[in-house]
Amino acid sequence: MNRNEMKLEFDSYSANEAFARVTVAAFMAQMNPSMEEVADVKTAVSEAVTNSIIHGYEGEVHKITISGVIEGQRLSLEIADQGVGIADVKKAMEPMYTSRPELERSGMGFLFMEAFMDEIRVISQPGKGTTVLMSKRIGQHGA
Ligand code: ATP
Ligand code: MG
Repeated sequence: MNRNEMKLEFDSYSANEAFARVTVAAFMAQMNPSMEEVADVKTAVSEAVTNSIIHGYEGEVHKITISGVIEGQRLSLEIADQGVGIADVKKAMEPMYTSRPELERSGMGFLFMEAFMDEIRVISQPGKGTTVLMSKRIGQHGA
């Protein structure tokens, strides 16, 4: 299949977290994914979008974008906000690290993204925002 791209932009209401994960699931449906692959991607999208809502925009409502690309068996996603950004990405990605323990966050979001996707990369700058790039090979089962 040729390269297939989509772009989604939505307001950072927590109600839109479900919209985002279901929309990505619908986009990847054409890749003949297993139920598990769909669940994995939905979880990763959910974690990244929740982070943009809670940490990036700190509850204020601004835009979140998701760009998706299907190239053969590979699904690539880019989830971006123009929020507060992350000063130390390495530290933020450590298991159990959270800057918001008072919100009963457990610091597991990036760990889930790493576990459920093949690759994840975080590009962030304080005051500029955060972009999470992730990819996963899909539809290999039975092959
Ligand atoms: P959990 O995901 O388990 O509820 P958490 O969100 O704190 O807890 P992670 O998702 O692993 O844990 O994120 C770790 C930290 O990285 C966050 O506490 C926050 O400081 C920072 N962070 C993550 N995403 C963003 C973002 N989009 N903008 C700003 N800071 C972020
Ligand atoms: Mg999180």
